[in-house]
This record gives sequence, structure tokens and C-alpha cells, in this order.
Amino acid sequence: MSRHLVRAGATAPDETAPRALLLAQRLRGRIGADKVLTDPAQLRTYECDGLATFRVRPAVVVLAGDRDDVVETVRMCAADGVPFVARGSGTGLSGGAMPVADGVLIVLSRLRRIVSVDPDNARVEAEPGVINLWVTREAAPYGQAYAPDPSSQQVCSIGGNVAENAGGAHCLKYGFTVNHVTGAEVVLPDGEVVHLGGTAPEHPGLDLLGAFVGSEGTLGIATRVTVRTIQAPEAVRTMLVGFRTVADAAGTVSDIIAAGILPAAVEMMDALAIEAAEAAVSCGYPEGAVAVLVIELDGPLAEVEEQFRQVETIADARGAFETRIAKDDTERALMWRGRKSAFAAVGRISPAYYVQDGVIPRTRLPEVLSEIGRLADEADVRVANVFHAGDGNLHPLILFDDTVPGAAEAAEELGFAILDLCVDLGGSITGEHGVGVEKKSRMARQFTSADLDTMQLVRCAFDPAGLANPGKLFPTPRLCGERPGVRTAADTHDPALGEVF
Ligand SMILES: Cc1cc2nc3c(=O)[nH]c(=O)nc-3n(C[C@H](O)[C@H](O)[C@H](O)COP(=O)(O)OP(=O)(O)OC[C@H]3O[C@@H](n4cnc5c(N)ncnc54)[C@H](O)[C@@H]3O)c2cc1C
Repeated sequence: MSRHLVRAGATAPDETAPRALLLAQRLRGRIGADKVLTDPAQLRTYECDGLATFRVRPAVVVLAGDRDDVVETVRMCAADGVPFVARGSGTGLSGGAMPVADGVLIVLSRLRRIVSVDPDNARVEAEPGVINLWVTREAAPYGQAYAPDPSSQQVCSIGGNVAENAGGAHCLKYGFTVNHVTGAEVVLPDGEVVHLGGTAPEHPGLDLLGAFVGSEGTLGIATRVTVRTIQAPEAVRTMLVGFRTVADAAGTVSDIIAAGILPAAVEMMDALAIEAAEAAVSCGYPEGAVAVLVIELDGPLAEVEEQFRQVETIADARGAFETRIAKDDTERALMWRGRKSAFAAVGRISPAYYVQDGVIPRTRLPEVLSEIGRLADEADVRVANVFHAGDGNLHPLILFDDTVPGAAEAAEELGFAILDLCVDLGGSITGEHGVGVEKKSRMARQFTSADLDTMQLVRCAFDPAGLANPGKLFPTPRLCGERPGVRTAADTHDPALGEVF
């Protein structure tokens, strides 16, 4: 929510750059007129991703139908020096898929074919527009599943997951997207098609696939992705535990891990998040709870049963006042419904809200949550906390009234104060939602100038012209010929975006 970017309701002016429009005319002849949009009314749909406070209307939208459309579009952009941005389902929460005003937005949601399912080798190959949950749906008949499960998994795309290195509730045990992608077909920013990784678990040489995962569309566009599937566990047991204090809930999380138990998921919600979830989906969480934990264990039946008992004992010792154990899949789904719907549910209790995403060492949870409460009181802003407690991945939902002048800015300021807190404690400015446009100014808070220069050198190796998703991820765009080193005052001004950091 940088002050210098166009905010909701104040879209970019219609003075689209002629270069992009000329490109659109030629592109229509190459890939089909119906796939190339320039009508301002149609373009409006694509102005933002899930972070709707950042909006820019693109000059051109390409609804790619297949890989060749992507290649053709990227090649033409490269030849004409027109910037482009990839878009999957547009659920990103950091403005990563926000378009460039004089550029082309390449929408990948029509590339939604499952290319192959290979249960014997536990691999699924998919086009980038395939929805996360569809991968598990394809693997399920073989007793397998795709582990990374963002709460948006019913709508977000595999391509977007790769670009953001998406996480989810079960990443505590199974790891993030990067741990499950073995290969990708990528259209580089000059239009060349390359294959990073493959179907084998490991590849010799530099891990370019690892660099690509989480690069937020700045290194090229994934047109196919190969992921590993896991054997569905023999047993899954889920419990919902109510606590009278946040500290008791947070302490339970630390005690479980310290006991050598690695749950599939440990999710936490505070009182305001519970209130929102109840209002939205009537999930029936324990009445009077100041915090709840959703704890899931999976694995061999005997191990799960034993560890489940241990977890109950730990929670009791920490003062849990109500523990419910899901008897069947319906009850399990209800326990998860409250958690999985929590982001959207907050819309029931506030006209607007801002989702932050930061990471702290798990053991610091009680003090960080109390400090967030103090910062919120000081700013006179309400904050609901719902997060992946096992990973220390916080999601403070900062509530504000967008009709009140200055309220959005106050929410943004509070969000950044929370991120500073995360960094000061040795954590990170993002756990899974990416940096995008929203947090790029915070990269210099977490990384040294030398770190950022090194990342820029990698980016330049993939994209010397800087056309792929410019203005995202990095605080100070550099050109490839630029010498790495200490930044000067001139470096910190990006005339293209009119931003000053
Ligand atoms: C209610 C809600 C809950 C969420 N919960 C979670 C969660 O639990 N965990 C989590 O990690 N995230 C979560 N998110 C955020 C979001 O869903 C993820 O970041 C997701 O991975 C984005 O996928 P997408 O298809 O919507 O990508 P988009 O938003 O379209 O794009 C995201 C980024 O990826 C780039 N991109 C998209 N496709 C490609 C491609 N094929 N090749 C190269 N770059 C590409 C874009 O340029 C952009 O930078 C949540 C979002 C919402 C709205």
C-alpha cells in the first residue's frame, strides 16, 4: 500500500502506451483477436490481485490458450521492449500480479490441463493454470495427495503457487511448494523455452529450479510444472482445543514440538478471528475461547494414536479448557472450515482489512502476539490473528474502515511495524504471501545491500532487459550493466514507478 501507487477507486489513467497497443494489434494476428483485450471495461477485471488496495490498469491483457501463445507474446514483448506480468488466478496477497500500466498482462488460467499422472513415480505434471486442489483430486484414486495446501487451494493456481513458493497448514510437516516441485518448463523473458529440473528428485549443477520457485514472476513464466505427490497417510486425527489465554495456546505449540512430535498442522486463531469465523460459517468453536488451536496429526495409525494422547496431555497441562476430537471426516471438515474461511470471514466484522504475513521463531509467539496487541491498541486499530502457529508464520488481519480518511494508511503502518518486529526477532517479512509490490520497500530491512545485489545479479542473468514483472520484489530496480555496490541517493529513486523509498 505504498502511498505512491494508485489506490482502489483511482485507477491509472487511460493513456496507454502506444508501444503496447501496437504490439496488441500484431499479436491479434498471431494468436487470435479474441485472446487480446484492450477495451478499458474488460481490462478493469485485471487491475489487481487479492491485494485490492493496489490497482493499475494494464494496457493489454492476453488470455493465453496454450504455451505457444505465451511464447509468442513474450517474444513480441522482448522484441518491442514492452514489460509483461504473469497472472494465475489472481489470489496473491502482495500485489505480485498487479499489472504494469504500459505493459501486457499474460493470464494463464486457460492453461489448465493435467498433462500426466504417474502414481508409480509419484509425479503429476500440470499446466500452470491448474488449480491446486485439482492435483490432489487427480492423485486421490491412487491413494496419493499433493501436500502444499494454501487456504486458497480451491482457487489458486499451481503456477502462482510456484511463483510465490506457497505454503499452507500442512507445510509444517511436509514443507513448502519448493519441496514438492521437481521440474518446470519455463518461458524465459526473451521467449526461449527451457526446462528446469525434471522428474528426478535431484539434479546436478546449480539449483536453477530452486531459484525460480518463489521468484514471483521475475525470472520468466512457468508453462508446465512437475510436482511430487505423497502417499496419503494411514490415519489422520484432528482436534480443536480452546484456551483462556493466547499465551497458553502459544505455549502448547512450543511444548508439542519440544516433545519431538511433528504434527501435520498446528493452526491458531485468536478471539477476534474466532468471532469472525463464527459470524461467517458458524463453526461452533469453544465458547469463551480467547484462542483456539486446530491440531492435526497424521501417519501410521499406532503412532498417531500415541502422539495424539501426548498432545492432549500437553494441552491440558497448559490449561486447555475444552478439547474436541473429530470423530469423522464431517467433524474434521467443520473444524477446518472455521480456520480456512477466516480471512474472508473477517469481512463480516469490518468494512475492510489488510492481511499481513510475517515469520517469527515459534518460541517467541507469546511475546510477539502481546506486542502486536500493544501496537494495535496504540494505533487504535483492531487486529485478528489467524496463523500457521507451528511454523511461526503470522497472519495479522488488520481491520479498518476504508471510508475513513487515513485509516488505510494507519493499517499499513501498523502492518509494517509488525514486520519490523518479525525481522528484529530473527524472522522474515513474509512466510508465504511473497513480497510483490507491497513489501519490496521492506526487503532492505531484512537483507543487506550485498544480499540484494546478489539477487539482482541472478535476476539479470534470466532477464537482462528487466521486462518480467518489473517493479516487484526488489526495492531498487537495477539495470544489468549496473555495478553492484552501496546504493546512492539516486539509486533509491525509481522514476518508472514514481516511488521513493
Ligand atoms: C483467502 C486467501 C487465503 C490464502 N491463503 C494462503 C495460504 O495459506 N498460503 C499461501 O501461500 N498463500 C495463500 N494465499 C495467497 C495466494 O493464494 C497464493 O500466493 C497463491 O500461490 C497465488 O496463486 P495465484 O494463482 O492466485 O497467483 P497470482 O496471484 O495470479 O500471481 C501470484 C504471483 O505469481 C506470478 N505468477 C502467476 N503465475 C505464474 C506463472 N505461471 N509463472 C510465473 N509466475 C507466475 C504472478 O506474476 C505473481 O507475481 C491466500 C490468498 C487468499 C485470497
